[in-house]
Amino acid sequence: MNFVSTRHAAPAASLSQALAAGLAPDGGLYVPEVRPQPQAWSTRGSLAANAEAVLAPYFAGDALQPDLSALCEQAFTFPAPLVPLSTPQDHVLELFHGPTAAFKDFGARFLAASLSRLQRDQSRPLTIVVATSGDTGAAVAAAFHRLPGIRVVVLYPDGRVSPRQAHQLGCFGDNIHTLRVAGSFDDCQAMVKQALGDEELQKQVPLSSANSISLGRWLPQMSYYADAALNHHAATGEVLNLVVPTGNLGNAMAAVLARGMGLPIGQIALATNANAVLPRFFHGAAYSPATSVATLANAMDVGAPSNFERLRWLFGEDDVALRGAFRSESVDDAAIQEVISRRYAEAGEVFCPHTATAVHLLEQLRAEGVQGHWAVAATAHPAKFESVVEPLIGRPLEVPAALAALLERPAKAEPCAPEYAALREVLLG
Ligand SMILES: *Cc1c(COP(=O)(O)O)cnc(C)c1O
Repeated sequence: MNFVSTRHAAPAASLSQALAAGLAPDGGLYVPEVRPQPQAWSTRGSLAANAEAVLAPYFAGDALQPDLSALCEQAFTFPAPLVPLSTPQDHVLELFHGPTAAFKDFGARFLAASLSRLQRDQSRPLTIVVATSGDTGAAVAAAFHRLPGIRVVVLYPDGRVSPRQAHQLGCFGDNIHTLRVAGSFDDCQAMVKQALGDEELQKQVPLSSANSISLGRWLPQMSYYADAALNHHAATGEVLNLVVPTGNLGNAMAAVLARGMGLPIGQIALATNANAVLPRFFHGAAYSPATSVATLANAMDVGAPSNFERLRWLFGEDDVALRGAFRSESVDDAAIQEVISRRYAEAGEVFCPHTATAVHLLEQLRAEGVQGHWAVAATAHPAKFESVVEPLIGRPLEVPAALAALLERPAKAEPCAPEYAALREVLLG
């Protein structure tokens, strides 16, 4: 299958080309040439096997098609279990069992496996340059660590990520170069954008990106929704409805695409933090990006959700139909804190601040009488956000083994001025 840009001003690309490019040359996002067609599904058992089935139509005819099975085996080495909650017919889909304890590990590992295969026949190394406000950079660094022929340069805003996040970003070494930038996340992102647009530089240093709009991260995120919904349907005969904590809409868009392919997924509700651009749109206002505000669920502090273009594409640019298809609500910091402490006190359940937005929305839907089997996407392990969660539950959290192993390694990040010239020098070095 080929891929086209949401902005219709770039040539169609093969899957491999779209994976390597990241963003389409017209600034749009790559989407499949053909909208998903519903088909019949049955579970193949494991996450990797269900991933292969759901990704197969997108790999058809591409140079990577023969590798798809191996890519799934290589990327999906940890589980995504659907775990019942204390409230009847409610579940969490635990997406935090990967190396950096957040769902971004799935997409980052699949992209890394894909790019390293595409890189096999290249004589010159590829540099992945990525700006992060915390979680993305760690997942990308972990996924690409020690892959031959690839170097990663991660930029993060110095002093504006949690100490544990900073440690994860700096602890890899080898082919991972971490820059702590004396500026904001927006500065980091602007520097990366400039590098990706610098044709002179790219003649000497081939570059690619690994941010959340990359097709290589978006498509594989369907895998855990497909796996959970198919196994749940096989066991209970019920479709799985989802609440997804949402920032850039990448994770939620994967669920929406999977549903479009006919997987047994019912309603999809989108929980945001106080950054309410999406809820305002779904409640009837015009789509209007805003400057982001800082919240306790910081990986969702997004004022202009980049994957919104993909959502509009899927609904044929028909905003009325789009509005009718989703429920979306904003959950502020006070409600996040309330959910975390109450669910712990009542049931011993512990959620990260992002997951808590979705739990709050599910409680709201249940209070309105919404029926059926529901799952909240648990996007990060609570121990990643211990400074928020531990005071609310009044006890220390056990750190997952993979995360603990990272935190034991020494960490180092180079200081970097918030100017493109400083990044360019590093990339040429
Ligand atoms: C990135 C992230 C989100 C938001 O995901 P999007 O794909 O940007 O909507 C939610 N929770 C956590 C923990 C994250 O790291």
